Amino acid sequence: MSFRLIILGPPGVGKGTQANIIKDTYNIPHLSTGEILRNEIEIKSDIGMIAKNYIDDGLLVPDNILLKIIENNISGANSSNGYILDGFPRTLQQVKDLNDLINKLDHTIDIVVSLTADEDELTKRLIKRSEESGRSDDTADIISKRQKVYWKQTAPIISSYKKTGILKEVNGLGTIQEISKRIIGAIK
Ligand code: AMP
Repeated sequence: MSFRLIILGPPGVGKGTQANIIKDTYNIPHLSTGEILRNEIEIKSDIGMIAKNYIDDGLLVPDNILLKIIENNISGANSSNGYILDGFPRTLQQVKDLNDLINKLDHTIDIVVSLTADEDELTKRLIKRSEESGRSDDTADIISKRQKVYWKQTAPIISSYKKTGILKEVNGLGTIQEISKRIIGAIK
């Protein structure tokens, strides 16, 4: 099966975990912009050095940097079978940039999965994750900032995808297996 999917949802809802399961189930590459940026920081690239300041502050990295990353990753042969975008788009500008890019590449997005969960549960999950992740942005105050950034800058893109008719809202509460079952049900 070949398709292009966007997975959306607030920090801590389990996008990365679920995107990995979809990747293994359908053999489609998983592109996590957060992971790509963390790798860039690790290798101390120019992009990494710019991104680090924003990430450590719980803020979004500028749209033009993200567009470059996505363009490099979805135009290659690896993506001919489709892809899962995790963590992108995150602003209305990124939705527009992605639309322009996929039109240029003659791609279409088949489905947008929006994972939902209430904020208290998410905070609990993130605090728990912070004990294991070693991520510089998984501290209590930065978690709270990232959640605010999500509701202000990212949540509005859900209504924009709702209008296109390809949005599927999936309950993100439950066990990992329960949630992936719901997602796979929504894809079929
Ligand atoms: P994530 O692993 O998806 O939670 O992303 C970690 C951090 O990377 C975010 O808090 C942002 O600072 C940055 N980031 C990841 N994706 C994007 C994006 N699409 N736009 C802007 N910043 C991003």
